[in-house]
Amino acid sequence: MTANTMSAPITFRRGGAAAEEADNAAHEASRRKGSKAPGFFRLKGDGDQTVIRLLTDHDDWIWVDQHNFVPTKPAPTGADNWPESMTSVCRKDQVFAGHYADCYICDKGIKNAFGKTAKSAIRIWALAVERELVKGDGSDALGGPSKQGVIVGIRDKVDEIEEVDAEGKATGTVLRYPRIIVVNHPMKGFFSNLKALHGLHGTLLDRDYIVTREGTGTDTNYVMSAMEPTEDFLPGTPKWQVILDAAAEREIVLDAVVAERASDAYYARFFDPAKDVDKDGNVVEAGASAPAGALPDLTTTAPAGTTYSPDLRARLHQLGKPAEPAADQA
Ligand SMILES: [Zn+2]
Repeated sequence: MTANTMSAPITFRRGGAAAEEADNAAHEASRRKGSKAPGFFRLKGDGDQTVIRLLTDHDDWIWVDQHNFVPTKPAPTGADNWPESMTSVCRKDQVFAGHYADCYICDKGIKNAFGKTAKSAIRIWALAVERELVKGDGSDALGGPSKQGVIVGIRDKVDEIEEVDAEGKATGTVLRYPRIIVVNHPMKGFFSNLKALHGLHGTLLDRDYIVTREGTGTDTNYVMSAMEPTEDFLPGTPKWQVILDAAAEREIVLDAVVAERASDAYYARFFDPAKDVDKDGNVVEAGASAPAGALPDLTTTAPAGTTYSPDLRARLHQLGKPAEPAADQA
């Protein structure tokens, strides 16, 4: 035995629930430092629930061919929280005709995390605001004692982001924005349920939906419960403008979020071992320059963040304009 037996006993923290909470908090903390990029819609467990207000209506949903659960290449030196697998948008999706001729994952027949060929499948993309039901706590502000424990209203969840300066140093200011999230799911079990409600109401933007996850794995269905329409929170209202302004300030553009996942840099960073991304965001041959270094945890974060050069950002925005088809599709 060592001298340690003389000191106070070590009591480890135990319990999966507490561990998960701490793990989530750690991810949240790393995600929010400086990056205004949106998180992704995620309900992890059977029965989990949240409230969303869609910002992208049925007719504007983006759909692409997408590779899911693609194993990533080894983590670059210094990268924390390197994801084991990532989704990507297939570069052979016809929308990229004239932009890309290759797709590393298709061309190499890469296998997904389950050992099957990572064929592309259609996935849908939309933006939403994550909201939460507010219960009375007995205070007058929330309806007084008679409303204790009763749902009295609904509000936006908030993303708190530590502002950083050009050198990446915290300024001490904490920015608070409505929690705008990226929703990326298949039709079946998710968007088809919203589509049915669109058929009923003519729009999906006029009310909140309570989303409840039922099941796990491929057997998952997301139940959408429609709330009452809200006259003070519709496209064209001041409240809606607040959300649009926040999206603009955070530079959240759905087209760019999707296009980024098909970009040269994205494939070089996560998949193609023959390529690297240098610190300026340029794609280079592997080993040609020092790796980009520590990266944000991208498993929960859309990476179209502050780490890209203005040039790359401009190109991504350009890519995100599928309204201009290539000549052979016209
Ligand atoms: Zn592909």
